[in-house]
Amino acid sequence: MAKILLTGGCGYIGSHTAVELINAGRDVVIADDLSNSDKSVIDRIEMITGKRPDLYVSDLKDKKECEKIFDENDISAVIHFAGYKAVGESVLSPLKYYRNNLDSTLSLLESMRSHLCNTIIFSSSATVYGTDGVVPYTESAETGGCSNPYGWTKFMIERIICDTVLANPDMSAVNLRYFNPIGAHESGLIGENPSGIPNNLMPYITQVASGIRDHLNIYGNDYDTPDGTGVRDYIHVVDLAKGHLAALEYAEKHKGTECINLGTGVGYSVLDVVNAFNEANHLDLPYVFAKRREGDLASYYANPKKAYELLGWKAEKTLVDMCKDSWRWQVYLKNSENKDGGK
Ligand code: NAD
Ligand code: UDP
Repeated sequence: MAKILLTGGCGYIGSHTAVELINAGRDVVIADDLSNSDKSVIDRIEMITGKRPDLYVSDLKDKKECEKIFDENDISAVIHFAGYKAVGESVLSPLKYYRNNLDSTLSLLESMRSHLCNTIIFSSSATVYGTDGVVPYTESAETGGCSNPYGWTKFMIERIICDTVLANPDMSAVNLRYFNPIGAHESGLIGENPSGIPNNLMPYITQVASGIRDHLNIYGNDYDTPDGTGVRDYIHVVDLAKGHLAALEYAEKHKGTECINLGTGVGYSVLDVVNAFNEANHLDLPYVFAKRREGDLASYYANPKKAYELLGWKAEKTLVDMCKDSWRWQVYLKNSENKDGGK
C-alpha cells in the first residue's frame, strides 16, 4: 500500500495526525530529526493505535536523507509538519529559521517531483494574515505583513508550494492555516511538551497547575474585548488532526492549491480559558494581570466556513474537552518524570 509521509511526525500536531491516519487505515511513515521531539512518541502512537509507524531520524534539509526516504518507500502524499516554530527565537535567530524551514521544504518538494509524488498538505498558520486584518479571518484576506521571521517562513512556503503546483498541474496542495491548537489525545499518552518556559497559554497554565510555575501572568486586561483579555480561536489538536485527514482526502481528488483555515470560528478570552480550566479540572489556578505582551493583538479568530464547504470538516470538541485533555497529559508527564527519577 502506498504510504503517507509525515515530516515532523514525532511533534505535537504530527503525532496526533499519525494516530488519526492510522485509525483511518492509512500506512504512515514519519521523518523527523528529533530537534523538538522524542522518538518514544512512536511507542506511544503504537500503544494508542496498535500499529507502529516507520521512523526515519532524518534532517530534511539534507537532500540525500530526503531522497533515501522516497527511494525506500512508495509515498503517495506528504503532510509537511517539520519546521521550527518558536516565534521569539525566530526574531533572535532569523537565519536559523529561514534555513531550516525553507531548505527542508525545498528538498522535500524536489524529492516529491523526482519520485512523482503529487500531493502535499502543509502546516501553515493564521500568522500569515499578519497584524492588519479584520476578524474573523477568511482565506481571501490579504496575507503578508507578518510580525516575525517564523511567520514569514510560513508565508514564503505557501508561495513556494503554490508556484510548484502552478508549474506542475498534476500536483495538488492544501496549505492549512491553523489558529491556536491546544489539548492532547484523550488517552493522555501524547501531547505538547515544550522545552523551557512555555510561551503559549495552555502549556503555561498546565505547568502552573502542576506546580512547575508559580502563577500565570495574564498579558493585558485592557484590550477592547468583552473582559479586557486577549481573544483567540483555540482548537483541539485532535480536531486539527482530523482536519488533516479531510484535507488529504480532498487533495487526493482535486488538483491545484487551496489555502484553508483550521479553526473553530469561536473566540475565547484568556479569562474564559482560565475559568474553563478551573471548572473542568476542579482547580483554582493562581494568576495575576500583567502588562500587554509586545506584538499581541486583541482578537484573532477564524471564519472556518471554507473547511466545512470543501473538506466537510468542522471542529467538534469543546473548550472543556481541551482543558481536561491538556491537564490529563500534564499529569501523565509528571508521573512519567517521577518514574524516571525526575529526568
Ligand atoms: P513541533 O515542534 O512539536 O513539531 C515539529 C517537528 O518537526 C518536531 O518533531 C521537530 O523535531 C521536527 N523538525 C524540525 N525541523 C526538522 C527538519 N529539518 N527535519 C526533520 N524534522 C524536523 O511543532 P507542532 O506544534 O507539532 O507544529 C507542527 C507544524 O505546525 C510546524 O510547522 C508549526 O510551525 C506549525 N504550526 C504550529 C502551531 C502550533 O501552535 N503548535 C500553529 C501554527 C502552525
Ligand atoms: N497569554 C497570557 N499569558 C501567557 C501566555 C499567553 O496571557 O503566559 C495570552 C496572550 O497574550 C494571548 C493568548 O494568551 O492573548 C494566547 O497566547 P498564545 O501565545 O498561546 O497564542 P498567540 O498569541 O500566538 O495566538
